[in-house]
Amino acid sequence: MKRSIGYLKAVTRSIGSSILDFVYPPYCSLCNRRLDDMERVVCERCWGKIRIINGPTCPGCGRPMKEDTQDCQECSKKRRSFRYVRVLTPFDHTVQKIIHLLKYNRKRSLGTRLGRMLAVSLLHDSRTNDVDLVVPVPLHKSRLRERGYNQSYFLAQPIGKDLSKPVRDDLLVRVKRTRSQTDLSPTERVKNVSEAFKVKRPDEVRGRKVMLVDDVITTGATVEACSRALLEGGAIDVVVAAVASPFETL
Ligand SMILES: [Zn+2]
Ligand SMILES: [Zn+2]
Repeated sequence: MKRSIGYLKAVTRSIGSSILDFVYPPYCSLCNRRLDDMERVVCERCWGKIRIINGPTCPGCGRPMKEDTQDCQECSKKRRSFRYVRVLTPFDHTVQKIIHLLKYNRKRSLGTRLGRMLAVSLLHDSRTNDVDLVVPVPLHKSRLRERGYNQSYFLAQPIGKDLSKPVRDDLLVRVKRTRSQTDLSPTERVKNVSEAFKVKRPDEVRGRKVMLVDDVITTGATVEACSRALLEGGAIDVVVAAVASPFETL
């Protein structure tokens, strides 16, 4: 009898670990190496491939520069309403796959880790550590319903925690369901997202310094539209924090 209970326990354990293996496959989603017990979804070797941007950057797009007092050539050609942007890493294959898993496969833990990495850069940067509120770039409510979550909120949460600032996803709303930006030219992108965002509770935005959080900045049209809405809603300063950017030349 004892043996059969032991056997049952062993079977249950193995079913349990099979379920866990199903929920957390024991292979890295990026390189297919077997994961260690402590690793989830992505292995440490793949995390280590993320090239964190240090040193001077362009205040307008976050690309590495020799000095960080002036805008890069691309940014000096266009107007922006936010003061400063901090980007964690150049957009490459590794970060593209991690963000895809976060966005479409509900891998929230990846968002938490990216958000923490971004928080370290923000804490070390005197231009980003004096904000009052952390606000994720919102999704339109119909897209939020489809996806079930806003990936930028997952990124914003650890940032708010590490900077000891409130994360508010109820102050800025996306009022227009915009077309996907992927196939649009930079000018079309600006048009596509202009007027897409509105401040919902101006009383709580007025006089505040806001940090806007996004996953990927492509042309900057989305964060610019959010920033304008926040400033029109009474914010006195907007800085942007994003995980990645391809630093497109426009
Ligand atoms: Zn890996
Ligand atoms: Zn720039």
